[in-house]
Amino acid sequence: MAESGDRPSYSCGNCRNPLAFHSDLLSKAFKAKSGQAYMFSHVMNVVLGQKEDRQLITGKYTIAGIFCSNCRQELGWKYVRAFDPAQRYKEGNFIVEKLKLAKEY
Ligand SMILES: [Zn+2]
Repeated sequence: MAESGDRPSYSCGNCRNPLAFHSDLLSKAFKAKSGQAYMFSHVMNVVLGQKEDRQLITGKYTIAGIFCSNCRQELGWKYVRAFDPAQRYKEGNFIVEKLKLAKEY
C-alpha cells in the first residue's frame, strides 16, 4: 500500500509540524466552526488546553482544545468525556479542522 509508510500523512497547515498518520484517521464526517473536520484516534506534537464542558450539536461533552506544539495554532479539540452514552465512542479521540491541516501526500 502506498500509504503504509512511516511518514505522517497530516501536518499543521501553518508550520508543517507532523500531526497524524493516515492510519490514525477515523472519519472525515465531522463539522467544526470552520467547516469540515477529521476525527483521529491519535495525534502527535500537540499540546492540550484546559478541559471544559461544552454543548455541541450531538450533546454535551468535556473537551480540551488541542494546539500545535510548534506554532501554537489551535487545531481542534479532544473528546475527554461524553455525557451521552451513545457518544462514548468519541472519548479519547481528536477532532482537527480540515482548514488547519496540510496533507503531505
Ligand atoms: Zn504548527
